[in-house]
Amino acid sequence: MSIEKNLQNIKQQVPPHVQLVAVSKTKPVEALREAYQAGQRIFGENKIQEMTQKWEQLPKDIEWHMIGHIQTNKVKYMAPYVSLVHGIDSVKVLQEINKQAKKYQRIINCLLQIHIAEEETKFGFDAEEVEQLITSNSLTDLEHVKIVGLMGMATFTEDKEQIKQEFTQLKKLFDHLSNTKKPNFDLQILSMGMSNDYEIAIACGSTMIRIGSSIFGAR
Ligand SMILES: *Cc1c(COP(=O)(O)O)cnc(C)c1O
Repeated sequence: MSIEKNLQNIKQQVPPHVQLVAVSKTKPVEALREAYQAGQRIFGENKIQEMTQKWEQLPKDIEWHMIGHIQTNKVKYMAPYVSLVHGIDSVKVLQEINKQAKKYQRIINCLLQIHIAEEETKFGFDAEEVEQLITSNSLTDLEHVKIVGLMGMATFTEDKEQIKQEFTQLKKLFDHLSNTKKPNFDLQILSMGMSNDYEIAIACGSTMIRIGSSIFGAR
């Protein structure tokens, strides 16, 4: 199947309030161009340098989302252009993004990554740490970042019930934290769902899905 057909298939299943991030990591620029020609404008990458190389080569109306773990020494490369950073998993990363965004006089939108899976290896905050972050003053000074949502990854399992439970847990935290509004904390986006679990994620309240292999094929 072609990239265009794959995109059409997915869009047919996704309600209009859910945004589709086409996860193009490891794929060549030609594949992204094909998706672009089919109308796709949001792309997700998990390595800052790879994303920056693609940004340089592709049309400038693309929204680039950084979905992977952030290395602080690479933040400077994406600071001029990135539109959303999904994988914020520490205050340190947030501080570095703030510092680099300031140099470009911009505010970078970010999602806090929440640890919902049972696997130990997945990065992210737990509910308690997020509460601490927003009740402490560590956010107040960061005027060049804005927390606009949460992101999470379910456990890699065939057990749909478990996936549903994990997404439901994240949605509850999202609803709870949505009551808190600060100048740089205002939750609108709930990023959850990948090729294998996006239907469950949407049913559980996702507003943004990140799809790679179902669009571009296996990596
Ligand atoms: C790779 C990746 C995806 C997309 O995964 P697929 O299974 O190919 O759809 C989504 N989110 C994150 C954080 C990823 O690293």
